[in-house]
Amino acid sequence: MKTVRKIALLGNPNSGKTSLFNQLTGLNQKVGNFPGITVEKKTGACILDNGEKIEIIDLPGTYSIYPKSLDEKVVFDTLTGTTNPDHPDLAIIIVDASNIKRNLLLFTQISDLGIPVILVLNMLDVATNRGQRVSPTAIAKFFSVPTISLNARTGQGLELLKKALEIHELDAPKSIFSTTKEEQDLAVAITKRFDIKNSYFAHLLLIQYQNFPGLSEEDKFFIKALIEDNKFSPELSQSREILERYKVIDEAIQEAVVYNLYENRNFTERLDKIFTHKIFGYAIFFGVMFLIFQAIFAWATAPMDWIDSAFSALSLSIKSHLPSGVLTDLLSEGVVPGIGGVVIFIPQIALLFAFIAILEETGYMSRVVFLMDKIMRKFGLNGKSVVPLISGVACAIPAIMAARTIDNLRERLITIFVTPLMSCSARLPVYTILIALVVPDEKVLGILSLQGVALMGMYILGFVMSIVTAAILQFLIKAKSKSYFVMELPLYKFPRWKNVGITIIEKSKTFTFEAGKIILAISIILWVAASFGPGDKVKNAEEYVKKSMNGAEISDEDFEVKVSAFKLENSFAGIFGKALEPAIKPLGYDWKIGIALVTSFAAREVFVGTMATIYSIGSDEESTIKSRMRSEINPDTGKEMYTPAVALSLMVFYAFAMQCMSTLAVVKKETNSWKWPMLQLLYMTGLAYVSSFIVYQLLS
Ligand code: GDP
Repeated sequence: MKTVRKIALLGNPNSGKTSLFNQLTGLNQKVGNFPGITVEKKTGACILDNGEKIEIIDLPGTYSIYPKSLDEKVVFDTLTGTTNPDHPDLAIIIVDASNIKRNLLLFTQISDLGIPVILVLNMLDVATNRGQRVSPTAIAKFFSVPTISLNARTGQGLELLKKALEIHELDAPKSIFSTTKEEQDLAVAITKRFDIKNSYFAHLLLIQYQNFPGLSEEDKFFIKALIEDNKFSPELSQSREILERYKVIDEAIQEAVVYNLYENRNFTERLDKIFTHKIFGYAIFFGVMFLIFQAIFAWATAPMDWIDSAFSALSLSIKSHLPSGVLTDLLSEGVVPGIGGVVIFIPQIALLFAFIAILEETGYMSRVVFLMDKIMRKFGLNGKSVVPLISGVACAIPAIMAARTIDNLRERLITIFVTPLMSCSARLPVYTILIALVVPDEKVLGILSLQGVALMGMYILGFVMSIVTAAILQFLIKAKSKSYFVMELPLYKFPRWKNVGITIIEKSKTFTFEAGKIILAISIILWVAASFGPGDKVKNAEEYVKKSMNGAEISDEDFEVKVSAFKLENSFAGIFGKALEPAIKPLGYDWKIGIALVTSFAAREVFVGTMATIYSIGSDEESTIKSRMRSEINPDTGKEMYTPAVALSLMVFYAFAMQCMSTLAVVKKETNSWKWPMLQLLYMTGLAYVSSFIVYQLLS
C-alpha cells in the first residue's frame, strides 16, 4: 500500500500561509482540532501534476518553535514527534519577503531540526513596493535550500512549487546554528536518555524542558539536575542562540536583499544618526509629542467652538420655530445637544489621527519603537508597546488590538492592561472644557499656550500612571519567557497624503457612527430621565415652587429658573445623582456631576453631552455649555461651582477611571477571559476615586 506523503505548512502569522493553503488545496479541506487541545487544525489534499495525491497540514502561524505558547507547542510536537501521526515528510516554510529578517528565524530553527524543507518566498510584491529587492537565488544558495518565489494571493509561482513537491528525496538541510562545546556535552547526555537523534532537538529539550509537553516529572528532574550540576544557564543559552541565528540571517540578508531600490539609503542612515541618537533621539521624540499636543489645542479649539455655538443656535431655532411640546423639547434639549456632543470631537480626532498616520507613514514610528524598547523593558513592557500606548491616545480599542504584534504573552497582557490609562480622545473634551474653565487663556514664555501645557500635563499623567501600573504588574504576572527585540527599520519616506487622508476619514467616520450611536442613545435616555420623575413633583413643579415661596415676590425669570431647578432635582436623574452625592462629595462633586458620572459610566465621552443636557434645561439657551458651567454656583459656598480643585479632581477622575464598555469588551475578546477586564474595571475605578479624593482634599 502506498502511503500519502504529509507536507506541513509553516510560517509567521500574516505571512500568507492561509492563502497558500487555499491555493494548494482548493476546496479539499478538513477542519478539526489537534488531539487534546483547542488549536484548530486544517488539513487538505493536493493533487500534483504527476497524479500523486499529497496531504497538506496547515500548522498554526508562529514566530519560533520554542514550545512556550500553545500554538508553538503544536508546531513543535508535530515536527519533533516522529511517532506523531502528523509528523511531516517535508515542510514548506512560507517567508514574508517584506519582513524577511523576522521570518527567517523560524526557517533556521526548522532547518536545524533536520526535516527536509522548501522555502517559499512570498510577498515579494510588497517588498518591491517598499523598495527592497529580495533575490530567491541568493537565499537558495546561502542556505542550500530549495527556494520558490510565489505570490500566495494571485497564485503566481504555484506551478513551480507543485513541481518541487514532486521530488521525494529532498536532502535534509545543512545545520545553521552551532552549539557551544558545553551545550554539545549536555545535549549528548540528553540524547542518550531520550533516544533523540537530532542535536538541535536535544538542545531545545535542554533549554526548554519546563515548557515541554508530555515530559514526566522524572525526566524534568533529570534535566534540572543536569543543568544545575553543570551550572548551565538555559536563559543565556537561548539568548545566545537567537543572537547567533540573527547573525547568520544578517549575513544572508547582506547577500540576498537590496534595500535601496528607489530611495537613498544614505539619507535614511544619516537621519537615523540623529533620530535614534542616545540623547537627541529622545529629545526629538518628546519635542514631536509636545508639538502635536500644542497643535491639537491650537487648531481644534476654533472649530470646536463653532460646532458648540452652531448646535446651541440650532437648539434655540428649533425651540422658537416648532410648536412647544414634549417632542420639541426632546429635539432641542435631548437629540440636538446629544449629536453636538459627538460632532464636537471630530476636529480633535481628525488631527490626532492625522499626526499618528504621518508618523507611521514617514517611518518615524518605527524609530520610536526602537528608541523606547530599552526603557519600556524596565517596566515589563517592550518597544512594541509604544504603538498601542501612543494609539491609546486616540482610542483604546484599536490600540488594544494593536498589542497583538507583541509576541511575549506577559508583555502583551501588561500592555493591554495599562493602555486604557492613556488619555484617549474621549477624555479630550472633558479636559478641554474643564481646562478652559479654570486655566487662564494666557501664554507662557511668550509663545506656549498655558492651556496647551495643562492639557499635555493630563496626557503625561495618564502615561506616567500606565508606566507605574506596568511596573507593579511585572511583579505580579510571572514571566514565562524572555522576548527579544527584532525589527527592521524601514526607509524614511514622504508620507503619502492619500493614505493620511483615508486614515483621517476612516477613523473619524468610525468614531462618529460607533461612539455616536451610544452617545445619542444615552443623551435621549438622559433627557427622559431628567425631564420626568416619580410622583407629581415634576409635573406640578410650578405649584410646589409657589407654595415653598410663601407668597414672596420674585421676577418671572427667577421663578422660571427656580421651577426648572426644582424639576431637575426631582427627576429620575436628579434622584439618582443625589443618591450618589454622599459618595462623591469628598471628591468635590455635587449631584449634577453625579448624574454625569452615572451616565458616562458606559462611555466617558457622554460627560460633555450630559453637562450640555443638564445645564441646558431651563437656563438661557443662547449661552454655550462652557459659559453655563462657568456661571454655575455652588449652593454651599455661594461661589462658583467649578473651582480649580473641583475641575482638577474631575479631570483626574476621568484620566484614571475605566468608563468604557467597548474597551472592556475588547479586552475580554483579546485575553479570552473576564478576569482581565474585571480587574481593570476595579483597579481603574478605585485608582480614580482615591486620586481624585487626594487631589480635591489637598487643593480645596
Ligand atoms: P496568514 O495569516 O499567514 O494565514 O496570512 P493570509 O494568507 O491570511 O494573508 C494575509 C494577507 O496577505 C491577505 O490579505 C492576503 O491576501 C495577503 N497576501 C498573501 N500573499 C500575498 C502576496 O504574495 N502579495 C500580497 N500583496 N499580498 C499577499
